[in-house]
Amino acid sequence: MAKYFDVIIVGAGPAGSLAALRLARAGLNAVMVERGSHPGAKNMFGGLLHHTPVLNELIPDFPERAPLERHVYKKTLAFLTPEAAVSLAFESEDFENPPHNGYTVFRPVFDKWLAGEAVKEGALLLTECAADDLIKKDGRVVGVTVKGREGELRGNIVIAADGVLSFLAEKAGLRKEFKASDMGVGIKLLLGLPEAAINERFHLVRDEGADISFVGATGGMRGGGFLYTNRESVSVGLVVHLDSLRAAGKAPYDVLNGFLAHPLLKKLLKGAEPLEYSAHLIPEGGFKAMPRVYTDGLMVAGDAAGLVYTNGINLEGINLAMTSGVLAAETAIKALEAGDYSARTLALYRKKLDESFVIRDMKTFKNAAGMMHSERLYESYPKILAGVFEKMYRVDGKPRSKLLRLARREALKEMGLKGIVADGIKIGRALL
Ligand SMILES: Cc1cc2nc3c(=O)[nH]c(=O)nc-3n(C[C@H](O)[C@H](O)[C@H](O)COP(=O)(O)OP(=O)(O)OC[C@H]3O[C@@H](n4cnc5c(N)ncnc54)[C@H](O)[C@@H]3O)c2cc1C
Repeated sequence: MAKYFDVIIVGAGPAGSLAALRLARAGLNAVMVERGSHPGAKNMFGGLLHHTPVLNELIPDFPERAPLERHVYKKTLAFLTPEAAVSLAFESEDFENPPHNGYTVFRPVFDKWLAGEAVKEGALLLTECAADDLIKKDGRVVGVTVKGREGELRGNIVIAADGVLSFLAEKAGLRKEFKASDMGVGIKLLLGLPEAAINERFHLVRDEGADISFVGATGGMRGGGFLYTNRESVSVGLVVHLDSLRAAGKAPYDVLNGFLAHPLLKKLLKGAEPLEYSAHLIPEGGFKAMPRVYTDGLMVAGDAAGLVYTNGINLEGINLAMTSGVLAAETAIKALEAGDYSARTLALYRKKLDESFVIRDMKTFKNAAGMMHSERLYESYPKILAGVFEKMYRVDGKPRSKLLRLARREALKEMGLKGIVADGIKIGRALL
């Protein structure tokens, strides 16, 4: 097989499929190369498809047609100690109105649907076909060799949307070897639970969904938990820093089981049927760990470009992936019009990213990755909060302290003055 395409897209995840859809709609000859048996077959995430304007623009009726589970109405941040939980819940009627702020989805189903939309517009999809190497001519990327369907694909531009370990970005010399400290590992368990039980336990009606982020209960490891409600199942899991997991010498599933044994989780998930375990890496180095995103003939989008950020409250990746895919496609359209595929022309992609929310948000929270490396965040803060609330609520005939005094005492007990000052600076730089 040897074919010539306007654009070759490696990876039919959210970044690749939306890039392909945008290119096909512009009448260009685009091919998606996907190593899985179908798009999404090898993909997993926590569960929240954030509101993504480019998706709404390209497929305005997607909320009616896409395989969505529930729209997220209620967001909760919960701090866990082994025996207690302090939760801050936000729910708003505004989240009831379209465009919804986010939906829970299953990636094997959603990714397949999204790639299908690109195919309907005229993009070609080759499954069970893994890009193996870059083909270069005079220093410019002009195609990829593929395994599965032996041969090569040639084209004017390649978009690498091949996920977190982007082997193509590495081959192109755009990124250095990964540091374990810039990487998280996600472990997820999908549990079946009847719709009525979900609605009752999470106080939801109709297709309302809940999203809970947990701090603590990771056995001292740096990381956090998540829980998303689907229609008749719950996605629950952890993302822990790879270096922290290695240092603890624990198996990911043992950490997950420890988390699921927490009294709050046990109550929420009582009687739920385990359906599926999965695990995946996630780039967590943020803005400072991003690779260069273009070179002659090649652009890198989504996780392959490290476009994920977390600030302890939000974790966003899929919306950044889709937006970057579309911006890479729009740059390719300009380059094809000009007949110039050099890095000088493809630099427009980085400019478009810089002007979008993608890089702006990554920059805003560029210090959050450093903050998230403080072990205290995961053990001391849940303990301080639980200590304060325990003392506020317990009625035992002893005299009470005012809130600030109580908080100061609990914080000093857990972290000492040095720790409070050090974290104050870190958290201030990351979030304020
Ligand atoms: C545990 C966990 C929880 C998460 N939770 C959320 C969340 O709730 N919300 C959110 O917004 N983000 C979340 N993320 C991040 C989100 O999943 C990613 O940012 C997003 O999937 C990136 O999309 P992508 O298209 O860039 O890459 P991917 O989704 O990884 O897709 C890459 C595709 O390329 C294919 N591929 C790879 N190599 C090759 C090759 N050589 N040849 C051919 N095909 C190839 C893969 O099979 C895959 O289909 C989470 C991630 C993890 C791990």
